[in-house]
Amino acid sequence: MLIRNIWAVGRNYQDHAKELGNAVPAEPLIFLKAGSSASVNSTEIELPHWTEEVHHEVELALKLGSHLQVIEAAVSLDLTERRRQNEAKKAGTPWTLAKSFDNACAVSSFFMVRKLEELKDLRLRLWVNDELKQEGRTSQMIFPVEQILEYVIEHFPVCAGDLILTGTPAGVGPLVAGDRVKAEIEGQITHSWIIKKQPAPLGDQA
Ligand code: MG
Repeated sequence: MLIRNIWAVGRNYQDHAKELGNAVPAEPLIFLKAGSSASVNSTEIELPHWTEEVHHEVELALKLGSHLQVIEAAVSLDLTERRRQNEAKKAGTPWTLAKSFDNACAVSSFFMVRKLEELKDLRLRLWVNDELKQEGRTSQMIFPVEQILEYVIEHFPVCAGDLILTGTPAGVGPLVAGDRVKAEIEGQITHSWIIKKQPAPLGDQA
């Protein structure tokens, strides 16, 4: 099934909102990542040559079925160009450059979800080069899965096959070429990626 849209929730874990100095939102803060920025079940992530500070954000990803119900889930990386995002935040401009570049949404393979209840207290973890960087539980979400789903469907043209990224716990940080990233939803799925960097175009090299 084609991924047309990726609806992502910002600041959905208190400790992460705090670490970036953001207020906790009163309703879900939704932004878009292009469906074509997703790479599913790949083992490498090639970052665009122009990126400078791409952060990992480990998140539970949900895939929607033909009745816009959650049919599957995965562990995902909401990759974020933090320097560009900080500039955009300061200027009050959109986050597209920071959030929607080539390969900005890395997704593992999917596991089946029968009931939303199965998602309510999953442990999420992320390691960079075997060092634990992020850890949280989906029970710590400010807006739980049911509420996100309801909100997104009420406000946006959600399609079958779309993904919802449900936000990241604290511990985000930069990735560089050569890093090995491992992300896990305990008891469900583990996925690893090697980080690569696209070479700069000729004539553009410092
Ligand atoms: Mg995120």
